[in-house]
Amino acid sequence: MENQPKKLTTASGSPYFENEDSMSVGPRGPLLLQDYILHEKMAHFNRERIPERIVHAKGSGAFGTLTITHDISNYTRAKIFNEIGKQTRVFLRFSTVGGEKGSADTERDPRGFALKFYTEDGNWDLVGNNTPVFFIKDPKKFGDFIHTQKRDPYTNCKSATTMWDYWSLNPESLHQVLILMSDRGTPDGYRHMNGYGSHTFSLINADNERVWVKFHFKTAQGIKNFVNDEAVKMKGLDPDYAQRDLVKSIDTGDFPRWNMKIQVMTEEEAKTFKWNPFDLTKVWPQAEFPLIDVGSLELNQNPDNYFADVEQSAFAPAHVVDGISYSPDKMLQGRILSYPDAQRYRLGGNYEQILVNRCPYAVTTYQRDGQMRVDGNGGRTPNYFPNSFDTIIADESYKQPTQDLNDSSQSSLVAGWYDRNAPGENDHYTQPGNLWRLMTPEQRINTVSNIVGAMSGIDGPKRDQIVNLQLCHWFRADLSLGMAVAQGLGISMETMNSAMGVQHA
Ligand code: NDP
Repeated sequence: MENQPKKLTTASGSPYFENEDSMSVGPRGPLLLQDYILHEKMAHFNRERIPERIVHAKGSGAFGTLTITHDISNYTRAKIFNEIGKQTRVFLRFSTVGGEKGSADTERDPRGFALKFYTEDGNWDLVGNNTPVFFIKDPKKFGDFIHTQKRDPYTNCKSATTMWDYWSLNPESLHQVLILMSDRGTPDGYRHMNGYGSHTFSLINADNERVWVKFHFKTAQGIKNFVNDEAVKMKGLDPDYAQRDLVKSIDTGDFPRWNMKIQVMTEEEAKTFKWNPFDLTKVWPQAEFPLIDVGSLELNQNPDNYFADVEQSAFAPAHVVDGISYSPDKMLQGRILSYPDAQRYRLGGNYEQILVNRCPYAVTTYQRDGQMRVDGNGGRTPNYFPNSFDTIIADESYKQPTQDLNDSSQSSLVAGWYDRNAPGENDHYTQPGNLWRLMTPEQRINTVSNIVGAMSGIDGPKRDQIVNLQLCHWFRADLSLGMAVAQGLGISMETMNSAMGVQHA
């Protein structure tokens, strides 16, 4: 069938005989209004672009399989995990964050790591990054923060001054900035980096008991990064380096794999954990909360059509399935609202009917109509609930355990949600310091060189103020880190001490 010649048709299916010459009055005359095929071609072309994602615009994606290798049913009743050997189809979209759709794949930037699992209980989206933390911990800051990563309203260029101004004024960013400035900020393609669900989520088991969870995907290809010079060079040599690398590896049967693991924290442990377990700028130390094996994720099928599957793929952390749920993480709470909202803007209210986003199992709602409703719209079935005609039931077995926010036994962890910034949550330095201290000498040299390179771009009348403030943060994370950056920037200890208000003996 594939190789059978096909007739050329209009979009409404009417065969036509030629596709290149417009209908004109004589060979040299003006064009005729009645050349509908010309209008259709030009009008459709004008509508080929949909709004670019405001973040994560440049991306690559592939289909694959999650295979469960270990039993975690004591933590979760999610059907995706209910049997060793169970396989679930997935779609994974990687991306850079700040650049436009045509920007280079090797920019210094976090990488998106967005997974859609087509489970029998509905689609589960785990929409994370290649880093376990993020720059901010409150969604109210997100728009401001992203503005600093995008183009300056006057110069229309990216601005180191703007970025460091924001980071220095928001030291909660320090942990993520240090990771970004290490060579993990420029991964060698998408296959050689880890993925993290980043947020804290919850797992609920068959006895309706809840634990808190973090998801990790460790690359089986091994971590491989570009050093700064290589990444910069690759921007010119092949701006689509990561896209090309992914397509090629799958096409040649070299399927990339990640080992899926979780960290688990009980509700009891959460009450005494030294940091807020729902703070997206913090990790859970692996010595205290060891990684637990879950399964193996493999990408094994390139999409046939980039626009259909990669561009139109729509992820939302709001899409969880029975046995997996939310947590009080403020950033997660914000994303539960903003991601589906962004998809409705980008693709329309019926975006979940687009093939790559469609749940392959039964979807039974009373939602109807709307632009681009293409699934039969419920046919003759009732479009209201309750009704006396259909047999749709609300299944009580999917009920989740309640969480009493006013329960004093939850201490300030949960009740603290209502605070704008709960007391004791301003330790922005210990974990970046821990990361710095675990780096090898070579990683430290590269990281400092990247920081110095990036901070050297700060200019304008506020330069010294921004540099000094940011230096204070590096010093507070680790003295040797602060010293190395100050030295790299050519700032004397005297200047530094006076900026930090340190008295000379
Ligand atoms: P561990 O020694 O148990 O873990 C260190 C982790 O750091 C490893 O997962 C390693 O990933 C990762 N890592 C190594 N180099 C870098 C880098 N340049 N950028 C980002 N991650 C890196 O220590 P802790 O769990 O106590 O964490 C210490 C620090 O490690 C944290 O403050 C955090 O910055 C970082 N980290 C921690 C993670 C966690 O979930 N606890 C996850 C990722 C990073 P790999 O083994 O894959 O090479």
